[in-house]
Amino acid sequence: MTEKYLAQPDLDFIAQVRGLGGETLKKCYQCATCSVACPIAPDDSPFPRKEMIAASWGLKDRLVKSADIWLCHQCGDCTDLCPRGAAPGDVLAAVRSVAITEYARPKALANAVNDPTKLPFLIGIPAIWFAFLALITMTAGETMTKIFEFIPFFNWLPHEGEHVIAQADFFSTWFVDLTFVPTAIAVVIIFFLSLKNFLNDIHENAVLEGKTDKTTLDYKEFFQALIRVIPVVFRHDKFNECDSNKDRATPHMMVLYSFIGLFIVTAIFFITLYVFQTPGPYSQLNPVKWLANIAGVALVIGSGLMIKNRLDKKDDQMTTYKDWFILGLVFSLGVTGMLTEMARLAHMEYLSYFLYYLHLIAIFNLFAFLPFSKMAHLVYRLTAMTYAEYSNRK
Ligand code: SF4
Ligand code: SF4
Repeated sequence: MTEKYLAQPDLDFIAQVRGLGGETLKKCYQCATCSVACPIAPDDSPFPRKEMIAASWGLKDRLVKSADIWLCHQCGDCTDLCPRGAAPGDVLAAVRSVAITEYARPKALANAVNDPTKLPFLIGIPAIWFAFLALITMTAGETMTKIFEFIPFFNWLPHEGEHVIAQADFFSTWFVDLTFVPTAIAVVIIFFLSLKNFLNDIHENAVLEGKTDKTTLDYKEFFQALIRVIPVVFRHDKFNECDSNKDRATPHMMVLYSFIGLFIVTAIFFITLYVFQTPGPYSQLNPVKWLANIAGVALVIGSGLMIKNRLDKKDDQMTTYKDWFILGLVFSLGVTGMLTEMARLAHMEYLSYFLYYLHLIAIFNLFAFLPFSKMAHLVYRLTAMTYAEYSNRK
């Protein structure tokens, strides 16, 4: 006997999806061209037609707890071929934005990242904080140097007589790290809790919809699936299966690899400073500096190409505030980082400090709001792709 299902539409959810770039949602007349056109959708229960039905009926729980919305790479093939101009690729992107906000905590911060009227606060608060740190570094620097000279752990502080332009003279490295280390810990905790709920939900949903016969989630098998999926992500195999926006793969890869490079550089600098007590700035001949410079240039070029791509395709690909927020932030991060370095090498001391100040604000915005911004797709998509591999959903 067919199981009865009582649909309870969530009208707020429909409004949310429409407001986040999915306003074409109601144009869909269920022809299924999109599901046939999608190069990534599995044969069994393909997307995005079923998601278009669920979204137009306001079935929020079904969508935000579905791994399939994350398997979509927003290539736009379905949007190009949709005879009704319902833009299913953009609707799925809007649903993913809602899902990020649903899983992230605190919710108020997640909503603020989606709200352009809150942007002055998101920029203003770290701007005030880093200006305050600069003030303390400048006014208390001498006193601190005298105090810390007696403590061997801090003997890497600048000594009198040496004058190399170093950002630490203007923003104490100690204060900056006291800002970023707790922020990093908070981000990891938020991601851990969000992903734990997300993984349980997508598993529960997959069991309900008969997409897996494994009723209990086996974490060992899940991690084995993760190891198999990571090379797929690094090679960007899924992007290469698309037609319409294949050109997005290269800039996307440049940004991904530059973040990996910058993460390695930051980790090395951190260990060298706190374990081996050797402060920067490093010589340009140092291989770690080469990696930092290559990653910085790749970040500027990659994010610049992504912005250009969005501007060129503005008619057939919806770009929302959330897209511009993250693209602008990543581009600013790369540009301010490179310009800081160039000003330092050109001995433009105060310009270098000012650019570093802007760079710190960009890092803070990117880092602190990682679980709420579009950047969170990295971890949600990786989890969903791993789950698809784990449940043998090909
Ligand atoms: S989104 Fe477009 S292609 Fe897909 S089912 Fe609806 S009308 Fe057809
Ligand atoms: S945007 Fe691309 S990946 Fe996503 S559903 Fe459409 S065709 Fe498939």
